[in-house]
Amino acid sequence: MAYEPNRRVYLFGTGGTISFVGESRMDFFNYSYRGQQLTIHEMLARVPEASEFAEVIPEQVINVGSTEVYPPHWLTLAKRINEQFSADPDAAGAAVTHGTATLEETAYFLNLTVRDRRPVAVTGAMRPPSAMGTDADNNLFDAVRVAAAPQSAGRGALVVLNNEVQSARDVTKTDSYRVETFQSGHMGFLGYADADGQVTYYRRPERRHTADSEFDVSSIDELPRVDIAYGYAGAGSTVIDALVADGVDGIVAAGLGSGGSPSTFMAGLKQAQAAGVPVVLSTHVGTGRVVQTRRFTEEGYIVADNLHPKKARILLMLGLTQTKDPVELQRMMLEY
Ligand code: ASP
Repeated sequence: MAYEPNRRVYLFGTGGTISFVGESRMDFFNYSYRGQQLTIHEMLARVPEASEFAEVIPEQVINVGSTEVYPPHWLTLAKRINEQFSADPDAAGAAVTHGTATLEETAYFLNLTVRDRRPVAVTGAMRPPSAMGTDADNNLFDAVRVAAAPQSAGRGALVVLNNEVQSARDVTKTDSYRVETFQSGHMGFLGYADADGQVTYYRRPERRHTADSEFDVSSIDELPRVDIAYGYAGAGSTVIDALVADGVDGIVAAGLGSGGSPSTFMAGLKQAQAAGVPVVLSTHVGTGRVVQTRRFTEEGYIVADNLHPKKARILLMLGLTQTKDPVELQRMMLEY
């Protein structure tokens, strides 16, 4: 195994399955019920082998299931990582433990707001540390190795589970219980944290991220509110109308196929635009682009390209911290 002395990794714990203690080794699905969790210090103590790759400095940020991670937590985490990186110019990288439910959202937020080339490796687990065949220890170990590896730098925030390293932009959770749940669709993963102790890469994300990002959250305490409206056969505008009435700052439509939805739903989006609410069209099919068609362009919509609706929402939230100009917001959707 590669031994890397004098490499420091800051490990931020936020909770999730990777931290929960179930009732028995066969508790694969009720483990969060009792609310018993390991701290990040206890999680790290289970993996002393991580110290072969880095000096690991743990910090508990929050300790919750990730359905309870909210945008203010993203801000806290991004600020802590940025602060730690500027306080310690010799640190190798950062790792974050997180529930898998919203892991990709936090990871993409960090991809856009950590202003540093050093790696941020986000990990979680599908089986708690108390369960048979848990992936908690391995994933934590891999996240530390990835964060400690110099070759991980400059690739944006990384999602590390199941020995695979994926781009925060492209990855999404695809299965409710399988350990191979995180997939990047057509884009594929970036590399392996592999059996021989090596962290190897085969590609690099092309879109802007981290050190190359224009988004600075250091003085932002609250993010604009953006919600997602889901398109389906027969969808009407009730949800969209309610969002606008409730003062939403932006809407992402998770539309059908190539981004369209029934005219009854699109009528709501038009009303939202007329009320000054920027609207981004994305698709919920899973892979592929929403493009600037003649109709979408004439009607003033912003398109999400191939960003998942949840990622388009995060980018729109950050974009709205700077501008409401649809031309600028469209540029961002195509650059990040
Ligand atoms: N409920 C868990 C969460 O915190 C699921 C997980 O971590 O896999 O998101």
